Amino acid sequence: QLAAEVAQWRGPGRTADGHAVAILGNVADGVSARSAADLGILAGVGLFRTELAFLERPDEPSVAQQQSLYREVIDAFDGDKVVIRTLDAGSDKPLRFVNHPHEDNPAMGVRGNRIVATHPEIREHQLDAIAAAADGAGAVPWVMAPMVATVAEAREFAAQVRERGLTPGVMIEVPSAAVQAEKILAEVDFVSIGTNDLTQYTMAADRMSAELAALTDPWQPAVLALVERVGAAGRAADKPVGVCGEAAADPLLACVLVGLGVSSLSCAPAAAAPVGRKLATVTLDQCAAAAQAAVAADSPVDGRAAARAVLG
Ligand code: PEP
Ligand code: MG
Repeated sequence: QLAAEVAQWRGPGRTADGHAVAILGNVADGVSARSAADLGILAGVGLFRTELAFLERPDEPSVAQQQSLYREVIDAFDGDKVVIRTLDAGSDKPLRFVNHPHEDNPAMGVRGNRIVATHPEIREHQLDAIAAAADGAGAVPWVMAPMVATVAEAREFAAQVRERGLTPGVMIEVPSAAVQAEKILAEVDFVSIGTNDLTQYTMAADRMSAELAALTDPWQPAVLALVERVGAAGRAADKPVGVCGEAAADPLLACVLVGLGVSSLSCAPAAAAPVGRKLATVTLDQCAAAAQAAVAADSPVDGRAAARAVLG
């Protein structure tokens, strides 16, 4: 079925009236990057979840080991855009070599970029390895930090990344970062919205809870209102705003995100063709109209129906 979907859409991503939207893949290591690249339809990698490559490791991988892993992913997409995320360890993805302390509420604890407070060297080694991997590669990777909550965190991360000649960005997945999007965008070159965590934290509903699925729906108008805010800040700053959470894998919602000002969509590679195909059938004005209706709706169900009425 995947082959059939791919056969019907070969990229590049754009709306029916020619507005370009990069359609990128989420990957976890060299193997998944190569199979994503083999689909032949992606414009690059929008989210390389580096922690997933290290889940089983008892010790921190050496800089040389990390360098070769990062280079495999960069090379798989040979000259195309690759966005590498620094470790998002903690919460649902503890790493053995990080020695996470016990926390009663780990989703709100020391996860993602927050480990710099206790383990600055882990992020330093990782950035050194990414810089080494970029040396002589076909494209210089973009590097982003997960779980950034403040402007100061974005500034500190950007300085570390720029010092190594790389392009800094941050994920917008904590509501405070969405609210401060203008100021955060002044510090970095791009942002990428993680709708999985942005929804979890906006709705105060555990993303792993099946019982709370109605709350952890990225069609929640409050979540879309935050995306709208970030999209507007990106346009004002003339800087890219991506989405790399599961929302980008829903063809209808992907069109709504584009209407909210999102310039790239990164999803599981298998979901890319249906997203690209849907986007090619609608205009940017239709996306914007559907987005306004979805933000104004009282519920995810109403928002989805309103978007479908515009987008088909
Ligand atoms: C997200 O939170 O939407 C995201 C892309 O990051 P992860 O799913 O890895 O937490
Ligand atoms: Mg996240």
